[in-house]
Order: sequence, then structure tokens, then C-alpha cells
Amino acid sequence: MQQDDGLRGVVAVDGPAGTGKSTVARRLAASLGARYLDTGAMYRAATLGVLRAGVDPTESTAVSEVVAQCHIEVGTDPDIFRVLLDGEDVSREIRGPAVTLAVSPVSAVSPVRELLVAEQRRIIVDATAAGGGIVVEGRDIGTVVVPDAPLKVFLTATAAQRAARRAAQDGVDDVAEIRRAVERRDRFDSSRAMSPMCAAADAVELDTTALDVDAVLGKLHELAVVRGLVVLAARGRT
Ligand code: C5P
Repeated sequence: MQQDDGLRGVVAVDGPAGTGKSTVARRLAASLGARYLDTGAMYRAATLGVLRAGVDPTESTAVSEVVAQCHIEVGTDPDIFRVLLDGEDVSREIRGPAVTLAVSPVSAVSPVRELLVAEQRRIIVDATAAGGGIVVEGRDIGTVVVPDAPLKVFLTATAAQRAARRAAQDGVDDVAEIRRAVERRDRFDSSRAMSPMCAAADAVELDTTALDVDAVLGKLHELAVVRGLVVLAARGRT
């Protein structure tokens, strides 16, 4: 990987929690001088707005009304990731247990998805307008947000491995409880009516169970080169 290689176009990275999506998507973007979009952070910010409004996350009409009033801004710099809710930096708070517990029902509400997907597409068009690149991670990027993305990757890993990663990341000892929570969230995300989490028919599926971050990153970079998305600046060719 050359330091000054550049990405053009969209790389869609989907998959369940704990597959290493965020880390590899952000690092891939940073290494290729590209933008980075964490769509999960947008659903998390919307969920925080719902919780702050005192609304039950399963009350879809009330949830849609609150989210329509929320002003969510998400940064696309892979080195300085920031999410603002009504002007306040909530980057840390959205990772807390209250939001993690409530995010799946909020994300299943159709008007919430319509609003956030429209904003995601706007950000992606903006990032790629002048021939730039963006790495976008989520659950429905390859299937719904950018169905014509030139590279779609769907990351998987065993539930045990995903729970172990999450527990290590959050500094939590009870891996069994984390595993139950991760599996509950995945079940919810993959069974909802609108845009359920699933691999696009043309996605490359990558099992990360036995791979470390560098190995996954290497494979994604290789796929991007093969698809002609990486401009090797130093050599002046793709
Ligand atoms: O990626 P992260 O774990 O932060 O995502 C949080 C939640 O947001 C997911 O469990 C899912 O319910 C929702 N989500 C979604 N569609 C996306 C990204 C995230 O429904 N594109």
C-alpha cells in the first residue's frame, strides 16, 4: 500500500456488530486519502434524540416525529470522527449502553430510514463529485444506500468471536452477556421489514473470525485495486 494511493468511488462495507467493520473501514479510508461515513453513528445519534425526548423507541410514529426534528451532522474525516446532535458533540454518548439497546427498534422505523438514507446519499454524492472516494459502513449500504457501488464487502465472524471483540473493546468481562446482546441486535437488524441487514448478491463475503485488522485491511485494499478504484499516485496508474 502506497502512502499517497488514492481512492475513487464508493466502497460499501456491511455486516453485523463485532466484525471489525468500523476499524477497517476507517483505516482503509485514511490510508487512501478518502472520506469515511459511519452510518451506524447516524442511527445512534437519532436514537439518542429519541431517548432525550423521553419517547419509547418502539413507538414508531412518535419516533419518526422526534427524528424529523433532530439535526444530525456527521463528519467524514477518518482521522477525526465526530457526530453532532442539534449542534452538540455526542460522539461518545452514542456508544453508551442506553443507545445500543434502543438503536435497533429506532432503525427499523421506515421514515427514520428514509430521512437518514437521503442524507447519506447526499454526503456520498458530495464526496465523490470531484472524482474522490468514500468508504461507507453500515448494514444496508450495498443493498439500499448505494446499490451500484463498485465494491461491496460483507464482513462476517462467528458470534463468539464478535462478542469477544466487543467485550475487549468496551472493557467488559461478561462476554456471555455481550454475546446475547450482539445476537439479539443482529436478529432484530436482519429481520426488520425495511432494508434488513443482508449481503448484496454481488458483495464479496469475508469471514474475519481468524483474521486480524491488518489482514482484513490488506484484503479490502487488494479488492479495491482489482476493481480499479485505487489510483496509485506515485506510479501514475491504477
Ligand atoms: O454499526 P453500529 O453497531 O454502530 O450500528 C448501530 C445500529 O444502527 C445497528 O445495530 C442497526 O440497528 C442500525 N444501522 C442500520 N443501518 C445502517 C447502519 C446501522 O440499521 N446502515
